[in-house]
Amino acid sequence: MTNSEQGKTYLGVPVYRPKTAFFELSSCEGCQLQLLNNESSLLAFLSLVDVVNFREAMTERSDAFEIAFVEGSVTRSDEVERLKKIREKAKILVAFGSCACFGGVNQLKNRFSREWTKKEVYGEHAVETEFARPLEDVVSVDLKIFGCPVKKEEVEKIIINIATGKSVIYPKYPVCMECKANENICLFDIGEPCLGPITRAGCDSWCPNSRFGCWGCRGPADDANVEQLKVIMKKHGFSEETLLDRLECFGGFSDFAKEIRETIS
Ligand code: SF4
Ligand code: SF4
Ligand code: SF4
Repeated sequence: MTNSEQGKTYLGVPVYRPKTAFFELSSCEGCQLQLLNNESSLLAFLSLVDVVNFREAMTERSDAFEIAFVEGSVTRSDEVERLKKIREKAKILVAFGSCACFGGVNQLKNRFSREWTKKEVYGEHAVETEFARPLEDVVSVDLKIFGCPVKKEEVEKIIINIATGKSVIYPKYPVCMECKANENICLFDIGEPCLGPITRAGCDSWCPNSRFGCWGCRGPADDANVEQLKVIMKKHGFSEETLLDRLECFGGFSDFAKEIRETIS
């Protein structure tokens, strides 16, 4: 049955609702939960797309989808196969959240050997676990939605753009711009480190609004000036290790972090 056959019309014109599926690889499923949590706009969202697969929300399953949102990083061989099958079926594959875009918090384990991780985490009940990888290490990705978790308002805006054929434009500027617009006190002035100057905006300065420094979950803004942030951190008495802790947390800044580690080793 096509979407127009389902009877959704606007001013008498059939409305096209793309068949949409949500999947998870290794993840906490918090990004999917963000969408479901948005009760005030959930019904409006559901009128826009035809959700055919969403394990957290429904029991029905279908392999006939056009847009696939994939949450989580790739950490097992069965996930590689599953992801390739999703890619074959999807016209648009969206990396959903920082685990899918950068490896996310899962990639923190990549600094240890696989044997060590298996022993320390699973003990005698070892399971297969490889290094955590972002989706685009395995398949091509059409679109990324950043954040740990994703910001639901931003996801809905992006989905509206996909469904109505508009381009998706990410903010190029850093979180600091949103933080200033929100009239927050700069956390550096009250003794808290923050990656806001180099992190891509779009979360509406979520953490600094609650007086928590940014940890860079959305990855680098365009032209992120990490060298200048190093100067700011030093001026406020923070060590390079403090900076590295944050740069290495979600995987989006891993190239920058590697470069800094090489200079101090
Ligand atoms: S990005 Fe964060 S919230 Fe989303 S699945 Fe990964 S760990 Fe969970
Ligand atoms: S608190 Fe962080 S995001 Fe806000 S202005 Fe200061 S450095 Fe930028
Ligand atoms: S402030 Fe930084 S860590 Fe917090 S949600 Fe935004 S990008 Fe992520």
